[in-house]
Amino acid sequence: MDQTGERAADVLVADDRIAEVGTGLRGDRELDAGGCIVAPGLVDLHVHLREPGMEDAETIETGARAAALGGFTAIVAMPNTTPAQDDPAVVSAVLAAGSRSSCDVQAAGTITKARAGGELAPMGELHALGVRIFTDDGSCVDSAGVMRAALEYAASLPGAVVAQHAEDDSLAGGGHMHEGDWSSRLGIPGRPAAAEDTIVARDCILAATTGSRLHFLHLSTAGAIELVRAAKARGLPITAEAAPHHFTLTDAACASFDPIFKVNPPLRTDADVAAVKAGLADGTIDAIATDHAPHRTEAKERPFEEAPPGMLGLETALALTLGELVEPGVMSLGDALARLSWGPAAIAGLADHGGPVHAGSIANLCVFDPGVRWVVEADALASRASNTPYAGQTLRGRTRHTVLRGTPVVVDGSPVR
Ligand SMILES: [Zn+2]
Repeated sequence: MDQTGERAADVLVADDRIAEVGTGLRGDRELDAGGCIVAPGLVDLHVHLREPGMEDAETIETGARAAALGGFTAIVAMPNTTPAQDDPAVVSAVLAAGSRSSCDVQAAGTITKARAGGELAPMGELHALGVRIFTDDGSCVDSAGVMRAALEYAASLPGAVVAQHAEDDSLAGGGHMHEGDWSSRLGIPGRPAAAEDTIVARDCILAATTGSRLHFLHLSTAGAIELVRAAKARGLPITAEAAPHHFTLTDAACASFDPIFKVNPPLRTDADVAAVKAGLADGTIDAIATDHAPHRTEAKERPFEEAPPGMLGLETALALTLGELVEPGVMSLGDALARLSWGPAAIAGLADHGGPVHAGSIANLCVFDPGVRWVVEADALASRASNTPYAGQTLRGRTRHTVLRGTPVVVDGSPVR
């Protein structure tokens, strides 16, 4: 399957490029793709690699390996590291480690220094190093004035996009799950949908007045998705992503009091899940992004209200997309791959990723078997952490080979780098 449709064919790779797509092709080394889909490598706009600062949870090397196993050939490393990626030296170090890893790593830069929400980071200097996505992810830019200044600055930087973690801290602060029936029943302080909706509404207005590119990270509420749909209909340069846990899980999971289900923005209601699916189906949401957020087991074994938010996502995203969106007919396989590959590649300006699978393209490929069933084993994941909410579940569809710039980095489901 590529952007033009499905067909049975061989893909011949020479050096870092696709040399030919056709039948009866032979090369020095052959990877069996029988029964598989050969797609452009997947692209994840939202990954926490935890390096520098939290290498006991993940490193650039282990996170990139998990990405490759998930079929990703490019990922965007979120800047909420310690120190934060608000500085050219930190960004350069992340890029250097990424260049030795199993996938292409684009570093995101912060919007504000130390993600403190005040003074802007040196966005121009970071842009010169290749940064295209600027975000204080993990924290919302609460100040409308700072957000407007960032949007204005980014407008002068080619390809730059400001990405908002839309949760108003004055509404969501102190909450640990979605505010609603379940939080009342469980007695856990909630994070209301309004925390997301109000920031999305405000930032759509700021994007309109500045004309700057704006991206919304991990949309999770029906209200926010409707706001983005309306803004796009008005022609605003806005894009959005959603995470697999927001179209597969609801706040009811928190009834277990298991912090594995704690994430920001939180798991929401059935109606919100339906809205995320509808937004992905009609293109209001441009990308599926994992928000892969590794945490040490000890950190996640604390009581619900003390545990840090976040869950793994890289190795399960493709199967969850196939199982929740493609198999039930919410969207076609082609549209699903658009949200997983060329949609996010376009947002991040990753010209070498997202296909098409044609002669001449850089050979960044994800070869996956859509029919194979597998059980998620938390401890068997390549990620250094094991905080997946899908442990023990049987999923369908898995990467067989991943090819990065012509070099196989996953062969028959095993990492080779
Ligand atoms: Zn976030």
